[in-house]
Amino acid sequence: MGAREKYGLTEVVNARGTYTPLGVSRSSAGVAAAVAEALPEFFVMDELADRASLALTAATGAPAGAVTHCTAASITLAVAAAMTGADPRRIESLPDATNMHNRVVLPAGHVVGYGQSILQAVRLSGASVILAGSAETRCTTEDLDDALSVDDVSCLLLVSSRLVHGEPVDLTAAVKAAHRRGVPAIIDAAAQFPRTADLLATGADLVLISGQKYLASPTAGLVVGSRRLVQAVRAQENGIGRGMKTTKEAIVGVLAALEEWQAMDRAKWEADQAAKVTSFARRADLIAGLSAEVLADPTDLPLSRVLLLVADGIDSAKLANELRTGSPSIHVLTDEAGLLLELVPLEDDELQVVLERLTEILARLLG
Ligand SMILES: *Cc1c(COP(=O)(O)O)cnc(C)c1O
Repeated sequence: MGAREKYGLTEVVNARGTYTPLGVSRSSAGVAAAVAEALPEFFVMDELADRASLALTAATGAPAGAVTHCTAASITLAVAAAMTGADPRRIESLPDATNMHNRVVLPAGHVVGYGQSILQAVRLSGASVILAGSAETRCTTEDLDDALSVDDVSCLLLVSSRLVHGEPVDLTAAVKAAHRRGVPAIIDAAAQFPRTADLLATGADLVLISGQKYLASPTAGLVVGSRRLVQAVRAQENGIGRGMKTTKEAIVGVLAALEEWQAMDRAKWEADQAAKVTSFARRADLIAGLSAEVLADPTDLPLSRVLLLVADGIDSAKLANELRTGSPSIHVLTDEAGLLLELVPLEDDELQVVLERLTEILARLLG
């Protein structure tokens, strides 16, 4: 019996993607076994963290890597690292960041919310935020230059995510603008693990990834990039990072998940995912009241989603609500066009359940 059943909790079919309120992702049996083996053991934690750095280097090509509790923690700690470097006195004095370069530039369209606002994750370090450009329109390189030209800028923070608004910011140009001012650039790419190499190729000094999202490790923040800043992130464990530290089981789980990722035939994985999406869309399209489309990821992640458009007179929010309140509880994304489903972790029997429930609910709503 699994933990969900043992504790009498709701059975969930998660077609929303790597969604934190639903437990994010499904780790493989290999990752689960590695974690179970780590729990009863002792480790020299610094040695384990050094081993994680090597593994992150091998998997991403970055010069160094570190593991924190999660990406929200990584944002706070990366900003802290940019302010303190390795200086123990500064590390100890945070979140009092007086007498440090303590202002973070963030494009206004990159003010994202993932359960908390990214602004709060920055402010937790003691830094304050300067917004560049305007949220609903755009942030040009000139807007960035203006914001970066004020005194006491510690770093430029960028976000690579479907959550950003406005016209896309050219990340490579933004990183260059920061470097022209001698300021490091950090990219929050929590849900973009498969694109880590592309994001490092922008020249960013640190890229922040959630291990528990597309890598499907236990909850962990992966920080990859320059040796100096990665070291300064690790050094925060003796300061504000104490409550954001990783665990032995998370690091061992990350190591196992990275090994599986590197051993995996990625072209086959992508082809299998594409076939699953196409087949589901074809079957959903046959349901009365629905038409299905395959949508490529707008941020170039190598996975597609299924968009279900509903017939006139059917409210897609109501349909999503009926899916969620039934048993098992089926979670999908909604957008103005209809329902959006991500299928990556779903098994055939779960896809079948989703199709059957859609058929049954639509028959009722149309009837
Ligand atoms: C999920 C997410 C986060 C937070 O990551 P956690 O690992 O859950 O703390 C931060 N930024 C973005 C863009 C996210 O999608």
